[in-house]
Amino acid sequence: MDYRRAENLEDAVRLRREMGYPFVAGGTDIYPAIENGARFPGLIDVSKVEALRGKIRREHDAWIIPALATWSEVVAADLPPQFDALKQAAAEVGGRQIQNAGTVAGNICNASPAADGIPALMSLGAGIVIAGSSGEREIPLEEFVLGNRKTALQEGELLRAVKVPVRAARCASAFRKLGARRYLVISIVMAAATLECDAGGRITYAGISVGACAARALRLAAWEQALLGRSIADLHALEVAPAYLAPLSPMDDIRGSGAYRVHAAGVLVREALAKAAVRLNEQVS
Ligand SMILES: Cc1cc2nc3c(=O)[nH]c(=O)nc-3n(C[C@H](O)[C@H](O)[C@H](O)COP(=O)(O)OP(=O)(O)OC[C@H]3O[C@@H](n4cnc5c(N)ncnc54)[C@H](O)[C@@H]3O)c2cc1C
Repeated sequence: MDYRRAENLEDAVRLRREMGYPFVAGGTDIYPAIENGARFPGLIDVSKVEALRGKIRREHDAWIIPALATWSEVVAADLPPQFDALKQAAAEVGGRQIQNAGTVAGNICNASPAADGIPALMSLGAGIVIAGSSGEREIPLEEFVLGNRKTALQEGELLRAVKVPVRAARCASAFRKLGARRYLVISIVMAAATLECDAGGRITYAGISVGACAARALRLAAWEQALLGRSIADLHALEVAPAYLAPLSPMDDIRGSGAYRVHAAGVLVREALAKAAVRLNEQVS
């Protein structure tokens, strides 16, 4: 197998265009895939590309998560409560060794329906900065992940960073994951909820995303809409209408039936909303 190490962003883009090999960052998805029979003529290592590294930081009205940020860096970063869901998801990606090597970009670009980082970022309304030979473009995460192992990356492009809008001071989020055991497990279903409210405790933004219940993580727009303008104190009284879960179309597999997954998604979203609401209450009171 051919192995190329990109020296910088331009090099990575050029190598990808010329050779067509996949990128490797932490290698925690692609090496197991090779072990399981996936065949590539070569790999392009981007782990030393400076433009993809750096601290998770605030720039004006957005938080920037560089492509090579690892899950351990996400856990350790000094971030406001809007990022609680992402931190909770990060702490559940494999064990410590995986969190030290696995990157946010790798998790997104691998585009597994069970990728734990994607629902948390989706509930935050994250965008993806894509770099290519003709410069950069930015698209919402929902338009970036197109399906199981499918992304919107075009020839020669790579994910440079994730951009998360800075939310109001009163904003919190939470993540819930269901697996066959407590740790080191592929999600059967996972859910993330982000809530923002005004000084009076009325919800001004709701982001709800569910993973492993369709070919890609989805946002539940009807449920989000039903929360707007409500008081966070009344959240527990809101019934889960079947329409809220209608976008989900999970399959049956050895980890659970489709019907079980839809039911579990409803429960996990409620739990994530309740957890986020508790954090919000702490900020309002
Ligand atoms: C034991 C074990 C447990 C795991 N547990 C979990 C878990 O609980 N939850 C979970 O979600 N995942 C889990 N994973 C999967 C994996 O660790 C994560 O998805 C991780 O974030 C992948 O990041 P990486 O840098 O290692 O990706 P890599 O393997 O380096 O790359 C993954 C894919 O992304 C592409 N890619 C990487 N960077 C870029 C870029 N900048 N631009 C374009 N394409 C890029 C690669 O070409 C490849 O197709 C586990 C893996 C292992 C081995």
